[in-house]
Amino acid sequence: MQDCIFCKIVRGEIPSAKVYENDSVLCFLDVAPAVRGHSLVIPREHVENILEIPEDMAAHLHEAIRRVGRGIIQGLKADGFNVGMNNFQAAGQVVMHAHWHLIPRFHGDGLQLWPQY
Ligand code: 5GP
Repeated sequence: MQDCIFCKIVRGEIPSAKVYENDSVLCFLDVAPAVRGHSLVIPREHVENILEIPEDMAAHLHEAIRRVGRGIIQGLKADGFNVGMNNFQAAGQVVMHAHWHLIPRFHGDGLQLWPQY
């Protein structure tokens, strides 16, 4: 998609701090993080939301989410992490390229995530 911000990141036209990538998935730090290490996992291919994601792509995304989650626990020494996704504008989706938010959590951090990530 020509004008999609995340497609531009995939193509390298907009810089990003990459956390993980493979042939089908890209993960990079959110530019406006809720907390240090707030990461976004996206498919390289443009799909708008979870309803458009084919099964094989879902498997790659799931694996990437687990990998990055493990990195958050091991690398950042987080006590846990949230995985969240906004689908459609009414649910708070701003970038219309499917993406998961991975947010490191620490005991007693007091972070209030809902309804916004
Ligand atoms: P949404 O509300 O669509 O679920 O979240 C979109 C997320 O994308 C937001 O957390 C926002 O900070 C992030 N974001 C928007 N534009 C950029 C960008 O150009 N680079 C990066 N790294 N993150 C972005």
